[in-house]
Amino acid sequence: MPNYSTQAINLKSYNLGEADKIIIMYSRDYGTIKCVAKGVKRAKSSLGGRMQAFMANRLFLAKGRNLDIVCQAENIESFSRLKTDYDKLSYAFYCAELINVFGTENDQNSKQIYDILFETFKNISIFDNNEDCMWAVLRFKLKLAKYLGYAVELDSCVRCNQAEPKYKTYHFFCPETGGVVCSECFLKSHRPFEIDKRHIKLFKDAINYDFPFEDDYKDKNLLFSSFNILKEFISQRSDKKLKSAAMIEFI
Ligand SMILES: [Zn+2]
Repeated sequence: MPNYSTQAINLKSYNLGEADKIIIMYSRDYGTIKCVAKGVKRAKSSLGGRMQAFMANRLFLAKGRNLDIVCQAENIESFSRLKTDYDKLSYAFYCAELINVFGTENDQNSKQIYDILFETFKNISIFDNNEDCMWAVLRFKLKLAKYLGYAVELDSCVRCNQAEPKYKTYHFFCPETGGVVCSECFLKSHRPFEIDKRHIKLFKDAINYDFPFEDDYKDKNLLFSSFNILKEFISQRSDKKLKSAAMIEFI
């Protein structure tokens, strides 16, 4: 039974018998992995708290017939403040759910997906205000979409590919087609959102910077509407209804 090693973040777990758990993780080298943590529910488990949700570990695993087995885990980061605050936890659940829904085994871009998940959990954990946390999640969604091959189109109309001639900027974003639409194509778009150049700047800044500029969210409505546009964009790319999306309605 060959062993292997990787870094992974715990996303979800299920009980298996009296003492074991099946843990779904996202790993840097192999994308989504499902493995068994033996004896983890016993008080004296050698894996201890490292198998709890949202822990990042360096793992040593043994290849099993169906599920791999966690032999050893060294904690890299516990994102400890994620669990001290309901809002932070809701954002973390939402990001974890997106990875559960969209992540697959051996994702081509597993390194980038793991790194943006790690960065997002770290930033949500350390940021002190809700707007900064929303920024982190906004950035996460834009980057995740890109790594999954659904990059948001912000520079030319996503339907006709033309640059907007009349107004030099776009006034609509279509979540279904995944980008800005010109004033002609707007009429053919399904439920487009009204935007202006501030939304486009905010999306571009969120792709490029892990921390917001002050003027990016001085207007909270701008941040909220950008967040909701991307929430709609992401949910339209999933067949499943995202449970945790409802949780963050109330933050
Ligand atoms: Zn167009």
